[in-house]
Amino acid sequence: MSKAIYPGSFDPVTFGHLDIIKRSASMFDELVVGVLVNNAKHPLFSVEERTQMLEEAVKEYPNVSVIAFDGLLIDYMKEHDISVIVRGLRAITDFDYELQIAQSNRKVSNETIDTVFLTTSIDYAYLSSSIVREYASYGTDVRAFVPEFVARRLQDRYQSK
Ligand code: ADP
Repeated sequence: MSKAIYPGSFDPVTFGHLDIIKRSASMFDELVVGVLVNNAKHPLFSVEERTQMLEEAVKEYPNVSVIAFDGLLIDYMKEHDISVIVRGLRAITDFDYELQIAQSNRKVSNETIDTVFLTTSIDYAYLSSSIVREYASYGTDVRAFVPEFVARRLQDRYQSK
């Protein structure tokens, strides 16, 4: 059975992420979306909130699950018998970093893990969670970028700040 993991911060999930999820879910028997707990950034949404929004957004896909993980991605993958990482590539600016991570993950996993890159759909090439947060913080309507329930969560979060 083919199993892949799509890791990221998802702060919050956008239509760009959902496009990658939809496309990779049709390539693997099982897709796990992994929400990073332990990253250097100070997220707008807690890991529970990010996970819960993703669960809501992917509920139409029976072979997609959402988990939160702490620590090293490849350790989680070994424990759960996952050998493929999915990442999205938007622009050349993503490439350097992604190449470095993919190569080092391959090395430290003794060449048991591979990374598959999906190029962004042209409609979402400019889209990132940080751009969405920036617009939402000024009260701009972000429903073109994220599902409606995520837009509401953003509005609530910034109104209460
Ligand atoms: P990270 O903090 O790990 O970059 P993100 O949540 O920003 O986490 O992104 C997770 C993954 O989704 C990354 O592989 C990123 O390149 C990809 N991604 C983000 N936005 C888009 C988009 N608009 N189109 C395609 N891929 C995207």
